[in-house]
Amino acid sequence: MTNPTASDKGSNPNNQPTPTSDEYQNPDYQATDTAASVGGGSFSPFGAAVAAATNSQKIDISRIVWKGSPNHWVGRDNQKVVAICNHIMQGTMESTNGWFKNRRSEVSAHFGVAKDGRIWQWVRVPDAAWGNGIPENPDTSLDWLVDGLKGQVNPNNLTVSIEHEGNTGEAFTEQQFQSTLWLHKYLITTYKIVPDRKHIIGHYQVSARSRANCPGKGFPWQRLMNELAGYQSPAPEPVPVAGPVSSNTNPVNSLVDMKWIQGVPGVIISDLGTRTVNTNNAYVRTKPSLSGTDGTLLRVLPKSKTLRFTGYTEAGPAFRGSMRWLLISDLDGGGWIHGSMVG
Ligand SMILES: [Zn+2]
Repeated sequence: MTNPTASDKGSNPNNQPTPTSDEYQNPDYQATDTAASVGGGSFSPFGAAVAAATNSQKIDISRIVWKGSPNHWVGRDNQKVVAICNHIMQGTMESTNGWFKNRRSEVSAHFGVAKDGRIWQWVRVPDAAWGNGIPENPDTSLDWLVDGLKGQVNPNNLTVSIEHEGNTGEAFTEQQFQSTLWLHKYLITTYKIVPDRKHIIGHYQVSARSRANCPGKGFPWQRLMNELAGYQSPAPEPVPVAGPVSSNTNPVNSLVDMKWIQGVPGVIISDLGTRTVNTNNAYVRTKPSLSGTDGTLLRVLPKSKTLRFTGYTEAGPAFRGSMRWLLISDLDGGGWIHGSMVG
């Protein structure tokens, strides 16, 4: 960010739809503060989780707290994420949250990382945040950016934006560094971003004039890139063939919409393969719930329906003595079902 007097939205040459849903009213997008606290503790477990992720595809993303911002485009105009763009807030998490919630600011980012290690999210990664859309003397060594600009692609369609609490020139706290390292690794793994300095950039490389100090001299480029050096993004997925997707080649993380995750404690994203409903009238819900009146009911499935599953929690509301709920793949419509209803 660094200059909260001007938009980082940029031009919209291909006329993407602007958001139609209002995050403040859609229950799937309401802010939740129920994720496990991540402040102050040791962060080594997260590093271990990410290291394990490249082998087992398990990443605990329940530490990311959804906030939501109306300032974004839906989708990425048929572009894919190729880079991470880092920013400094020139303020606090709270002040930035207020600014991103304000439609008139026309500014947002996907994520924010606090000095105490908290991670907040305002825009779904499949959507384009308004973080770095004004090219001014862009870094011409970035081929993906140059090629995109030639094709009138707004840089916001190619990037995931991460804001960082604090002011330009300030050093990061250890918690802040560890959290942004974790977030970088998560995004590199999930969106297959190349972990080098051409694909992990600063706002100043898009907007060299007005954003020259974003993220500024305090940003730990050298340490971050040292930690990411040799960090392997997963091998490219095999080209899918016709027919059912084999469970062990599912790009499981990229299929999970954040709306299923936010506010649900203890979610583990993991490819559970295919399972069958073992009871009639099995309720599928927007989040684990036993209520008949809270609006979480999505649909009802018949016995013997086969579904793919992409995650679970052991911390849902207990039913028949079990707190285990399973997350249905978005390939099969998404939603949560109690573990006892699946064989
Ligand atoms: Zn910035």
